[in-house]
Amino acid sequence: LEVVRAVEPRVADAIAAELTDQRESLKLIASENYASPAVLLAMGNWFSDKYAEGTVGRRFYAGCQNVDTVEALAAEHARELFGAAHAYAQPHSGIDANLVAFWAILADRVEAPALKRAQARQVNDLTEEDWFALRRELGNQRMLGMSLDAGGHLTHGFRPNISGKMFDQRSYGTDPATGLIDYAELRRVAKEFKPLVLVGGYSAYPRKVNFRIMREIADEVGATFMVDMAHFAGLVAGKVFTGDFDPVPHAHIVTTTTHKSLRGPRGGLVLCQPELADQVDRGCPMVLGGPLPHVMAAKAVALAEARRPDFADYAQRIVTNAHALAEGLLRRGATLVTGGTENHLVLIDVHGYGLTGRQAEQALLDSGIVTNRNAVPQDPNGAWYTSGIRIGTPALTTRGLGTAQMDEIAELMHTVLSQTRPGANPDGTPSKAKYVLDPALAERVSKQATEL
Ligand code: PLP
Repeated sequence: LEVVRAVEPRVADAIAAELTDQRESLKLIASENYASPAVLLAMGNWFSDKYAEGTVGRRFYAGCQNVDTVEALAAEHARELFGAAHAYAQPHSGIDANLVAFWAILADRVEAPALKRAQARQVNDLTEEDWFALRRELGNQRMLGMSLDAGGHLTHGFRPNISGKMFDQRSYGTDPATGLIDYAELRRVAKEFKPLVLVGGYSAYPRKVNFRIMREIADEVGATFMVDMAHFAGLVAGKVFTGDFDPVPHAHIVTTTTHKSLRGPRGGLVLCQPELADQVDRGCPMVLGGPLPHVMAAKAVALAEARRPDFADYAQRIVTNAHALAEGLLRRGATLVTGGTENHLVLIDVHGYGLTGRQAEQALLDSGIVTNRNAVPQDPNGAWYTSGIRIGTPALTTRGLGTAQMDEIAELMHTVLSQTRPGANPDGTPSKAKYVLDPALAERVSKQATEL
């Protein structure tokens, strides 16, 4: 840190402050974790200085032999860990991994048939008219993904993200009575909409997903089945999700982040069946810039860690802890979306405490408990204020906390949420952001949170 301090002390101070924050608060953000020192060190080194566009053994730059080594190792560990036919380790993030997958699917399903049609007419190069027709066709495809308020992700076809501009999107939700995916309804929507891409996976759905049924539906409507396992990749790696709940044997293409439950560096990964491998490997330069060799080195280390037997134990403890946290909250009267959890996350409907998600998030933060607000199905408060708090156990499980501590955390959270009152605007109208919480209570809880 002193080396950084000598150049820009404010950055050194921010790094030190971040370490203190992450140590002293309870990190309950479902998408965060603590990477190991081996992962962090593999990422902070001279690989950062190297350009390596292309793929292993086929680079557009000289001197890439060491990058080849780490990229090949990351891909090999990913294939072995997940039982995948092909792995591509270059995506810089989850969003990038999804973009690579979308373009690979479009190239496979739309562009390649159009090129073949042109070749059949013995046209070597596409005519200008063919190009216009192809571009229209590429821009006219359909995607069916989980709706945002049911727990889907922005990249699954929603307007604020490029996926919603690339594709004509429709979404499937959850059953209003149970909060669970209704596969019969999903089948009905798929048959009506006939998407090119059916997307499985989520950011805020606290249950297992049956990928075998989803693949059947994709086959019935001729869709390519893509699963974004960014959130639960650690549970797949640790063999907590197997059979129908493991997306890898069922999907044509699977994307993930490497930094959430998988506990690696920030980054993305694509796994696919052999027929998509060529297109996936064109991720750079199609949608990615030069690869980040330092991050691929860290991915290789994290994936090697995830292949060790103790990772399966870790993954199982994530789920056991999430279950204990959910039970602790339910016992104290909280309302949970779907009534519980089967994975690493819990979604609390804080409407039951008379609060918006934003009020609850800030009151918990004042009390040393870091969470994020999240929409609940059919959320009356929209995506900004929301009515939910999403919590997850991957990070605290890495720190070694167990079920007894989860119950203590449930007690702390319930105390804060039940003692927080919604605030008012200066004109007396109810505010969706302001709240009233006794600072002495927040300080007491914060102290207890640090001691955990
Ligand atoms: N996919 C899912 C399901 C996610 O939850 C997220 C991030 O929260 C992403 C993709 C995007 O990952 P990144 O932030 O690495 O781009």
